Amino acid sequence: MGKKNYYCEYCQKSFKDILGIRKNHLKGLQHQKAVSEHYAKFKDLKEIFLEESRKKTCKRIFEGLECKFGTQCRFSHYTPGQLAEMKQKIAEMEASKKPRSEVVDMKGIEKFLNKTRERILRDLCTTNKPFWTYPFDLVEGLDLPPSLQPLEPSLLSEKFEEWG
Ligand SMILES: [Zn+2]
Ligand SMILES: [Zn+2]
Repeated sequence: MGKKNYYCEYCQKSFKDILGIRKNHLKGLQHQKAVSEHYAKFKDLKEIFLEESRKKTCKRIFEGLECKFGTQCRFSHYTPGQLAEMKQKIAEMEASKKPRSEVVDMKGIEKFLNKTRERILRDLCTTNKPFWTYPFDLVEGLDLPPSLQPLEPSLLSEKFEEWG
């Protein structure tokens, strides 16, 4: 089975997905710069949007004229249309914030489940202790039916009657 390539969406580069290589890449200066640039860009846009959407649109800009106050104008030089576009862009960026390759790692989950299953089975075979815990502090003082009471480990070794 061939190794899949790992694609870094921050650096827009792909390389062999070998743990050492990936780790080195994520630690690398180039990658960290790309990540911080990605978030800086994102933050700037959001900040601009929040700031501008608080202001009223500058009358001159709204009418398609030039405003002599420029960046010092206390009104927004973004038209409502531009702000709406900005909002859309922010939403898109927010949605893609997490690189796809990190969202679902089914192989990792499967591996984890298999390991856990193996561990439980091994523990079951090597010890007589149950592998679950019982919430004694939660049920203390409650009059529980027998099926909800803690299972005594000694009961496990008792012979059950055969089904009729
Ligand atoms: Zn990278
Ligand atoms: Zn203005």
